[in-house]
Amino acid sequence: MRQDSAPKCPVCALPTTVAGQPCLDCHQTPPPFDATVAGLGFEPGVRHLIHALKYRHDTAVLEALCAPLRAQLCATDFAPDAVLLPMPLHPTRLRDRGFNQAALIATALARHTGLRVMPDLVRRTRSDPPQVTQTAAERRRALRAAFEAVPPVPQRVIVVDDVMTTGSSAAAVARVLKAAGAQWVGVWVVARTPKPTASDANYLDMT
Ligand SMILES: [Zn+2]
Repeated sequence: MRQDSAPKCPVCALPTTVAGQPCLDCHQTPPPFDATVAGLGFEPGVRHLIHALKYRHDTAVLEALCAPLRAQLCATDFAPDAVLLPMPLHPTRLRDRGFNQAALIATALARHTGLRVMPDLVRRTRSDPPQVTQTAAERRRALRAAFEAVPPVPQRVIVVDDVMTTGSSAAAVARVLKAAGAQWVGVWVVARTPKPTASDANYLDMT
């Protein structure tokens, strides 16, 4: 699996025209997170490995999934005092699945970067997925209400997840972290999907 070399927006990790510059969307409407690093595109082979990790707890695929992200991180500046926050799962979902795949990824990245993992920094208080019938603003409000920061929150936090789709979950977590005192929030994901189109409105981030 390889990372394509087209320039990516440093804020949302989607393809952009000018290397190192935020894309038009992030320029016009900056998201609440400050930077995103993605290892891979969400191609069929990547999806297959992520499903193996997520639904079959096949940790043998972790190395293949994390290596491209680690390679990206070599060229990325991140503060040594930043902490890693695995995207929280609702406790019920965690109980059903038995593990949080984002925590497995964060632990693998912590070994590589020396950063600390703080899995309890944000709690997921609601598990209901956003409704397709809701407007974007309603979905944002519902998602934000689904997360709760547990102070004290460090200045710099990096949210770790398997896939970023719309970025709405990462945005919601970044909002609660910043409201609780974080100055900078980054996002590290194994894979990034292409930009969703209007017809993908039902294709929401669901962890
Ligand atoms: Zn962007």
